[in-house]
Amino acid sequence: MCAPAHYGVEYVINPWMAGNVHRVTQANAARQWEGLRNRLEELVDVELVEPAPGLPDMVFTANAGLVIEKKAVVSRFLYRERRNERAHFKKWFERAGYEITDLAGDAPFEGEGDALLDRERGLLWVGYGMRTDLDVHPALAEALDVRVVSLRLADERFYHLDTCLCPLERGYLVYYPRAFDADSIIQIEQLAPAEKRIAIGDDDAAAFACNMVNIGEHIVLNSATAELKERLAQAGFNVIETPLDEFMKAGGAAKCLVLQLANHAPANGGAATSVREGLVTLEGHLLHAGLLEKAVDVAVENGGTFQVLSFDLGRQQSSLSRAEMRVVAPSEMRLNGIVSQLLSLGAKRVAGEEKDAALSPAPMEGVAPDDFYASTIYPTEVCVAGKWLTVRNQRMDGVLVVEAGAKPVVRCSLFRNLRKGDLVVTGSEGLRTRRKTRKPASNGEHEFSFMGAGVSSERRVDLVVERIAWEMRRWREQRGKIVVVGGPVVIHTGGGQHLASLIRNGYVQALLGGNAIAVHDIEQALLGTSLGVDLVRGAPVAHGHRHHLAAINTIRRCGGIRQAVEQGVLTRGVFFECVKAGVPFALAGSIRDDGPLPDTEMNLIQAQDDYTRLVRGADMILMLGSMLHSIGVGNMTPSGVRLACIDINPAVVTKLADRGSLESVGVVTDVGLFLSLLSQRLGS
Ligand code: NAD
Repeated sequence: MCAPAHYGVEYVINPWMAGNVHRVTQANAARQWEGLRNRLEELVDVELVEPAPGLPDMVFTANAGLVIEKKAVVSRFLYRERRNERAHFKKWFERAGYEITDLAGDAPFEGEGDALLDRERGLLWVGYGMRTDLDVHPALAEALDVRVVSLRLADERFYHLDTCLCPLERGYLVYYPRAFDADSIIQIEQLAPAEKRIAIGDDDAAAFACNMVNIGEHIVLNSATAELKERLAQAGFNVIETPLDEFMKAGGAAKCLVLQLANHAPANGGAATSVREGLVTLEGHLLHAGLLEKAVDVAVENGGTFQVLSFDLGRQQSSLSRAEMRVVAPSEMRLNGIVSQLLSLGAKRVAGEEKDAALSPAPMEGVAPDDFYASTIYPTEVCVAGKWLTVRNQRMDGVLVVEAGAKPVVRCSLFRNLRKGDLVVTGSEGLRTRRKTRKPASNGEHEFSFMGAGVSSERRVDLVVERIAWEMRRWREQRGKIVVVGGPVVIHTGGGQHLASLIRNGYVQALLGGNAIAVHDIEQALLGTSLGVDLVRGAPVAHGHRHHLAAINTIRRCGGIRQAVEQGVLTRGVFFECVKAGVPFALAGSIRDDGPLPDTEMNLIQAQDDYTRLVRGADMILMLGSMLHSIGVGNMTPSGVRLACIDINPAVVTKLADRGSLESVGVVTDVGLFLSLLSQRLGS
């Protein structure tokens, strides 16, 4: 322990300190610290370290380092404010005859504040994400010959592991679940059986109840609720409360004020950690396009950490930058997840690391191996027998299957199409994606972007419509393929006639929708209403609610939409034009469909396959007021296809247009208005 002679809140490096600068009452602090020391001295010997002026946090000796047997790992503090404590603690360890171990590198490690020995389980729980870096976990395992279990702290109020977890005698574990991320909770639950876990609530957490010192059957802490005391008593512990609120002003209590010196090495020693690392390079307009920032976010948001090993900054606006990054993750699985996401940002595994992709056989029909690589919309290459092969049928949320042989092939497959034994790409090695980078040109326009990509609001509709019209004209000239995805709102808003004229004039090569768009288009063609509303007068008509059912009934009698056209029953509208122009359409069924029309495919697997077939080879896709079908289409469309999403709901537009690719644009507007402007622009 270290007497609070120079203790105070002099700066703010955790949320508890905020509002408490210069608000410590020295006399109270001294009395409370003596109180804790007296309680402990009744149970154990207490050694003291000399307090140093100008280091107000030195009183929190748990952060001095970590001791196991006679080995001491001295802390490296994250914050400049505490860094000078190190020399004092180091000197104390040396004088006391400890063997000092320095961890490789320079990443922060804050001692027992973040590393707690669990003798019963023979492991060291180590926190990261706030003060101690994940990068030191393997070094710690190595230095102390112990198994390290990494836990990620997710709430900045619980910035050290000892504020939210405490391993106790006989395998009990007190912890505050809300302080951890989901993966860490799973780890805790896997390693500590339910009867040994004591999860505390908000009140105890706020009173620093986890920050306890456990000596044999005694537990010394600031305070605990009656409920927690009862639970600890049931587990055979004697709870001793001693007030420490003056220290809570700086974010610490009983455990923070104490460093345990009698730590015995676990019997089942042996260094072990699940932490893994990988090297990647990123090249492109890293700063301008925000790629580096995105890469760093990917690593941190997914529970990892990173180190930028080198960074060559492109000096001019047009020149490329290059960065080499070392990514560290708490497990192989997390590393693969992070690297896969970095690959889709265009990162590459560092040359020396490039090797064949790992392959595992599908264990059964329709099931992939557990660590499968999930495909993205970006063109992907896989290294097979030293050669980079381009993936066929690229789409999102599939797996990559390698067909071995003299000329190996890699294709994207859905789970349901996997056969037992199919070789599926796993992990993240031997993979790379090609991604167009946003190249800033001198006029501020982006060379590759489709209308500047992103989401446009009402004010720019006219301009965006003009650009979309220009694109459509271009594809029609080049005999390209334009696919339209539409919902019933196309008809309700009066856009049906405009869509029909686009089809008639050769601007649409395939139409995708559900039962509703066809039902309401046909209702309008046969009865002049859409969902019973007369679109010319904008008013409901008598008995109009049965109109759409009557339309369905008529088509069912004819045998289908094409038959209705051939029989002269259906003579106008969107689907009439499709049949006339030979434009294929696919209608996917849903739970709310009335009828359905004979053309509506109620077998959804078949419907997905029909959509996939019609989307293949598309140059441009217009998504018009149908969230369900547009999202479905977005997932099966590789990057590179120009995509325009029109919806009245900004959230839907953002979701669909924000694919991280440069070819999608979203327009928040009424789809009827949009279609009317578009057909005007196209003169159709
Ligand atoms: P959806 O919720 O997936 O999409 C509707 C979208 O239209 C929403 O994103 C909404 O924001 C947008 N929208 C609403 N008004 C708009 C406007 N004026 N301009 C632009 N966008 C506008 O629903 P959905 O695609 O209409 O239907 C989902 C499923 O239900 C489909 O399979 C459909 O066929 C079926 N359905 C069947 C029937 C029927 O059989 N009678 C009726 C309705 C829907």
